[in-house]
Amino acid sequence: MSRKRILVIYTGGTIGMTRTEHGYAPQKEAFHALLRQIPELYAPTMPEWDMVDMDPLLDSSNITVLEWNAIGEQIASHYADYDGFVVLHGTDTMAYTASALSFMLRKSNKPVILTGSQIPLCEVRNDARDNLITALLIAAGSLVHEVCLYFGGKLLRGNRAIKYSADDLIAFESPNYPVLAEAGIEIRMNRAALLPRCRENFSLQRLVNIPIGVIKVFPGIQFDLFDSIMTERLKGIVIETFGAGNIPKHADSLLPIIRKASENGTIIIVCSQCPHGTVSLGAYETSSALKDAGAVSGYDITTEAAVAKLYYLFSRGLTDREIRERMGRSLRGEVTLP
Ligand code: ASP
Repeated sequence: MSRKRILVIYTGGTIGMTRTEHGYAPQKEAFHALLRQIPELYAPTMPEWDMVDMDPLLDSSNITVLEWNAIGEQIASHYADYDGFVVLHGTDTMAYTASALSFMLRKSNKPVILTGSQIPLCEVRNDARDNLITALLIAAGSLVHEVCLYFGGKLLRGNRAIKYSADDLIAFESPNYPVLAEAGIEIRMNRAALLPRCRENFSLQRLVNIPIGVIKVFPGIQFDLFDSIMTERLKGIVIETFGAGNIPKHADSLLPIIRKASENGTIIIVCSQCPHGTVSLGAYETSSALKDAGAVSGYDITTEAAVAKLYYLFSRGLTDREIRERMGRSLRGEVTLP
């Protein structure tokens, strides 16, 4: 049987960084040279792979929708030539990029696996080598038909992942969805949790840099401060509330602002600050008001996926009603509905 072909898209991130006088920074040539020194990457049991470098290589803190579009375009223009894709990416915003790609790569059937590392490949003790090798093997398998994030032995649905540790080698979690695969002695796939193959044709939805915002509620928050940003310019806002969707009762000042924003056509999505569990608007008096003011429940969606979904839905040119309706359902397995 012929070997699978994988395209590796190198966007930057710690995985390929080397020490400079200003700290770690991406170094293309040095990273390529290090990869050539890993014989396992060229073993007959590995897929064949090619690599394209994004220009410039980024610390992922600098990623924007422009880079998401560039990654999407690389995948779209090589879609027919490869069996799967591995995206090498910094960990800081990997969950955002994985979420964005999960929406942008419409009806994609091919595995798209984002990975990176906490310690660069140039260091003797690193997690880069294993993350890269295992991501390549998963991308060459035939079971995954979605955008995933592989890190520290776990394969997660991309739009369910969050970065939860700044220093552990197991840095990502998927608090509201089962792990899709675990890489122990063998790579054990959780078949029941994977998205099924899609029968329709693949297309790329590019994203537009829509003005959106995120507000995290905290005790004593003075909502009137936000009045000035809640203008017609603001297309969408994610509110990270307490628990199951609660805001402080003193938030009398918030509700008129939310109501005004909602009437202006701003889509207000309610998420929880708790990584695990779901928003249930109306369960408490403190959340009913949000619902009455026109906010939409994000249920158990991550803030990362909610932000990406807002960009995506607005970029599709949908009406407010259509966006609200799609926020309330699962497009790529990003949310569990009650
Ligand atoms: N700041 C780095 C980045 O996100 C961190 C990493 O890759 O782990 O690009």
